[in-house]
Amino acid sequence: MTSVDTTIRRITNGEAPGAVCTTDLREAPWAFDTGVPSYGPGSSMFDAIPARSPLQGEIPAEYREASADELHRRILAAKEILGDRVLMLGHFYQRDEVVQYADYVGDSFQLAVKAKASPNAEAIVFCGVHFMAETADLLSTPEQAVILPNLAAGCSMADMADIDSVEAAWEQLEGIYGDMTAVDESGRVPVIPVTYMNSAADLKGFCGRHGGIVCTSSNAETVLEWAFARGRRVLFFPDQHLGRNTAKAMGIPLESMPLWNPRKPLGGSTSQELDDAKVILWNGFCSVHKRFTVAQIEQARAEHPDVQVIVHPECPMLVVDAADSYGSTDFIVKAIEAAPAGSTFAIGTEINLVQRLAQQYPQHTIFCLDSVVCPCSTMYRIHPGYIAWALEALIGTADRPAEVLNRIQVSDDVAEPARVALERMLAAKPNHTVSV
Ligand code: SF4
Repeated sequence: MTSVDTTIRRITNGEAPGAVCTTDLREAPWAFDTGVPSYGPGSSMFDAIPARSPLQGEIPAEYREASADELHRRILAAKEILGDRVLMLGHFYQRDEVVQYADYVGDSFQLAVKAKASPNAEAIVFCGVHFMAETADLLSTPEQAVILPNLAAGCSMADMADIDSVEAAWEQLEGIYGDMTAVDESGRVPVIPVTYMNSAADLKGFCGRHGGIVCTSSNAETVLEWAFARGRRVLFFPDQHLGRNTAKAMGIPLESMPLWNPRKPLGGSTSQELDDAKVILWNGFCSVHKRFTVAQIEQARAEHPDVQVIVHPECPMLVVDAADSYGSTDFIVKAIEAAPAGSTFAIGTEINLVQRLAQQYPQHTIFCLDSVVCPCSTMYRIHPGYIAWALEALIGTADRPAEVLNRIQVSDDVAEPARVALERMLAAKPNHTVSV
């Protein structure tokens, strides 16, 4: 099977049938790394990127102009020289042309754990997005350098909740709930902040400072149980869909989940609605997963009557409700692994992962729910050219001393409380007796 990159090139050149969400996808990522911050072409290109997002400086011409074969040779040669000094981590949603160099491939949490478990590597080249590199920095040793090959590889969802807006929301909630540290007769405070792993380190730090916690798509229910054992309500950011899908599965009614719009006073709710709330959902979403629709599910079922539809919990609630099952990337992979040969799956998650699963499990029919090819635009900013540049810089040359490019470092004042929130998550255990 061809890679997503090759598919995009063939479709945009008119050599293959199909549709891509934008023909700009055939451009190299450095075409979008100059001037103003942008997410680049793809599913999140129309979301508003925060003005202070990092900009990637110009990549030298020798990498921009190198052929795919030359970059491949140079990356392999650099990896050979660097050996165990460098650990390369690749997210599931990266293109195959990047994933092939990774020493380990996984979701954001699995990669962070791998970074923590590899204290001997001098550098960790993180082929993912900015918040993931920050998390790897939080969990690795201070001597290790975490490198993001292209600084413009952010995450449109993570960018939808910034620390200033969350601090402002907290202040407004304080105005309604009073002292946020005061416990009631059940021993619970008014509200516990919960941030999804897909958020900036300073939001994880915010949660650490305010008795809150981090969650992943695998453990969101356990984390909400943890939070409801300590608080009467939860402020959940940045992904409204993961928050809503998880809370709904726990039996929390939709009317107890107001949406917080940071551009409106009280997030757009009344004081009474916020007083009655169980989960306050930040108005954020993943641009990739919001593309999936109920109509796509209906079409998949019409064309493949025996299809099993599995979607990620970052998809909108109606899509999750219409699917046969939903869960994290790990859940999706395990469901496919466990299925009898000859099964058919329509998957609602990022196209690179879906195509790779289709390659890895040829005994099944596996396809993406969305027939339009549209990879995560921010993941797509990582390209072999940037990897070659970062690795060769670590080696240096006779004319150029070795250097660490694009190091991601979380400041100590943020890192300390952020680790507290992460440690709470790692220690949280399922507790189905908690009343919500
Ligand atoms: S898939 Fe969605 S949540 Fe993941 S990096 Fe891309 S925009 Fe962010």
